[in-house]
Amino acid sequence: MKVVTVIGNRPQFVKAAAVSRLLREEHDELLVHTGQHHDDELSTVFVTELGVPRPERELSIHGGSNTEQTARMLAALGPLVAEERPDAVLVYGDTNSTLAGGLAAAQAHVPVAHVEAGMRSFDRRMPEELNRVLTDHLSDLLLCPAPAAAENLRAERVAGAVEVVGDVMVDVAHLFQPRAREDDAPLEALGVTPGEYVLVTAHRAGNVDDPARLRRLVDLLLALPLPAVLPLHPRTDARLRAAGWLSELEQAPHVRLSPPLGYLAFTALLVRARAMLTDSGGVQKEAYLAGVPCVTMRDTTEWTETVDAGWNVLVDLDAQAALAALERTPPPDRPELYGDGHAGARVVSSVARSFAG
Ligand code: UDP
Repeated sequence: MKVVTVIGNRPQFVKAAAVSRLLREEHDELLVHTGQHHDDELSTVFVTELGVPRPERELSIHGGSNTEQTARMLAALGPLVAEERPDAVLVYGDTNSTLAGGLAAAQAHVPVAHVEAGMRSFDRRMPEELNRVLTDHLSDLLLCPAPAAAENLRAERVAGAVEVVGDVMVDVAHLFQPRAREDDAPLEALGVTPGEYVLVTAHRAGNVDDPARLRRLVDLLLALPLPAVLPLHPRTDARLRAAGWLSELEQAPHVRLSPPLGYLAFTALLVRARAMLTDSGGVQKEAYLAGVPCVTMRDTTEWTETVDAGWNVLVDLDAQAALAALERTPPPDRPELYGDGHAGARVVSSVARSFAG
């Protein structure tokens, strides 16, 4: 079987780490990096650290509006898929690269497999939500991380086959979190002590693109009562500089800024944090897996199971709510919500069963 896999941003490199090597044991894969994230620290670092194969094709498409970027990706991926004629195109998650890869394949009558299908925040203002919904409706094989995702797809009457395989990010977390617990270097480099700091990530368009929302984010970070480690996503860095507010964070004694971290250093900081404060999707899950309480700076989440389990609280950008949530003691139980860490193998076998030959 020949598969073209399309990835483009940081979490997709992490997800591909659970699948590409396994896929290549018995099948041919052409890995295409759209370039959506072009900084090395958001892409190639994962090739080195997580053993993601080096992409065979780099399209170098980044920047511009979501529509424009997706259109440029489509224009590049259409001919590529037509020329390669794979048995299937594999896409992950909810980015412009996901939608462009899926649509280019569907237009070329090549079957599409979507990993992380069925997740919904039910917030259509998020570009990610549009990408999820559209990709799910053009996919032939919908591989879900959890039963609720499969329920969402059945409710929407998608045309493709739906299967719950577990979450591929769990595979990667299971592999690396235990080692990360022994790694003191990233904590020492940032001058923090295990259990006595909050790890923060923030980069959603809805939080950083609008200056009024960005200001609320800055005020929330300034109000935190304990050391806060903040690896700055390039988008957030650019918006803070443009608004002239980066220096406020640089000067706050409790805030430790850093460039985006590699997966290993980030995971070392995550597993020993007192709490995670984030607007990321994947990080909400990773915190849950590590047994670190999560406070999410959004008013919706597609990872609702973590909220229902009592390990994640949605506070939007409300500083008081965030401070109160950080005080909470997490519940004693942490049930397995997203599979057993072998989702990658199920993705490979399901794609092969569906499309090989
Ligand atoms: N991550 C990382 N370094 C960082 C911040 C995050 O390696 O400085 C990893 C994190 O462990 C997770 C992924 O990047 O696996 C999440 O990516 P991101 O937050 O960009 O995307 P989202 O999940 O929100 O789509």
